[in-house]
Amino acid sequence: MSQSIAENANTAMAAVRQLLGELPHRAYIATFGCQQNEADSEKLRGMAYEMGYEDAASPQDADLVLINTCAIREHAEQKVLSYLGTLKALKAEKPGLVIGVCGCMTAQEHRVNTLRERYPYVSFTLDPASLAAFPAALLDALEGGKRKFLQSGETPPVTEGLPTRRVERHRAWISIMYGCNNFCSYCIVPYVRGRERSRLSADIIREAEEVIAAGCREITLLGQNVNSYHGDCDFATLLDRIAALPGDFSVRFMTSHPKDVPDSLIAVMAKHRDKIAPHFHLPLQSGSDAILARMNRRYTRASYLETVRKLRESIPGIALSTDIIIGFPGETDEDFAATMEVLRTVRFDMIYSFLYSPRKGTPAANMEGQISPAVRSARMAELLDAQNEIALSLALPYVGKTLRVLADGKGKMPGTVTGRTPENRLVSFEAPESVIGEFVRVKIERAEPFVLRGVLAD
Ligand code: SF4
Repeated sequence: MSQSIAENANTAMAAVRQLLGELPHRAYIATFGCQQNEADSEKLRGMAYEMGYEDAASPQDADLVLINTCAIREHAEQKVLSYLGTLKALKAEKPGLVIGVCGCMTAQEHRVNTLRERYPYVSFTLDPASLAAFPAALLDALEGGKRKFLQSGETPPVTEGLPTRRVERHRAWISIMYGCNNFCSYCIVPYVRGRERSRLSADIIREAEEVIAAGCREITLLGQNVNSYHGDCDFATLLDRIAALPGDFSVRFMTSHPKDVPDSLIAVMAKHRDKIAPHFHLPLQSGSDAILARMNRRYTRASYLETVRKLRESIPGIALSTDIIIGFPGETDEDFAATMEVLRTVRFDMIYSFLYSPRKGTPAANMEGQISPAVRSARMAELLDAQNEIALSLALPYVGKTLRVLADGKGKMPGTVTGRTPENRLVSFEAPESVIGEFVRVKIERAEPFVLRGVLAD
């Protein structure tokens, strides 16, 4: 099945290539949202390249614009719609421009209807599991066919064999599973990305070997619940096999669900300290058992803290980061105090905090006890104040130390480069751009809550 989908995509790609001929063409891909979307955009970019499209620097410079959308919050969707609005004039100027919209927004019926009715200049939409249909939809649009609005259903097959064109050489996203079975009561993902489907381990390992051979220094295994991977082995076994591959690289993974952290996974991380980054992103969401139950998270504060204890016992120095939702419906002062208590107990290296935002179609959107914006904002301010203090106290001991850092981009200040430590700490340091993409040693001179600053030690 997966093979015939890839074959159909290849046939359509060849037809587009032939139709376009030798004239240069350019594609611009705007990506909103998470790393999974970044990874999907690299596939779209790979297919576009196969069909004869080079990268465009802007939509103005493009013959094809693809918008890879996010639906996680209302705000994210509004951003996409307003971006799309800005393309109306461009389409009027360049009638030959093809505009396609893909990603999570296009898996929702009401959003597809909006795109169909209010954005007539959109030629096609593809939900996240329909990416392989991109060449055929593009071919149709180029040949003047009818507009297409493709949706793949709840359990589409995993498609292998599509080309990928990565943005960076030194870092690679590798999706290992798609979709989610958990139905947390606030989350739209299971409705837009379907049920869990895992790739076979041999396909994942082959992709890892290819990127390592091409000079990749950091692989990030991706999935909505990466640790509930269930291809032909479990996640711990897959991670063990990838970490055992030869080469100078490290492995990260995201995002994990706290209910799926078996001892075997912790043991594999401890066994491969040299290859598996000592960092675990473990979304807490709330420290209150009552709220966790309303969120349908299926762990308790006690089981979460026990997982943290085990991780720290087996992997000394491991960094922990988390997601926290503030103002979930029904969150009382006591519930919020419980979250603050876990924050102070665990002392996370990094948190990503979100004000609860109702998503149409999820159970939480209709729950009683929606929290007022003023209360949500006050709680958020208290949380961030506490976290700033914690983050600074955890960062200060790094001053004077020399750390191994993967240099991964230009810094904001001229002459500086940024990178990440194995614990995923952001480091900004003075260095030539030529170090980007390599592991370097950096002497830390200053610590701020969210960044360490230093100079090249070598
Ligand atoms: S585990 Fe929960 S929060 Fe994560 S993608 Fe699934 S439903 Fe959403």
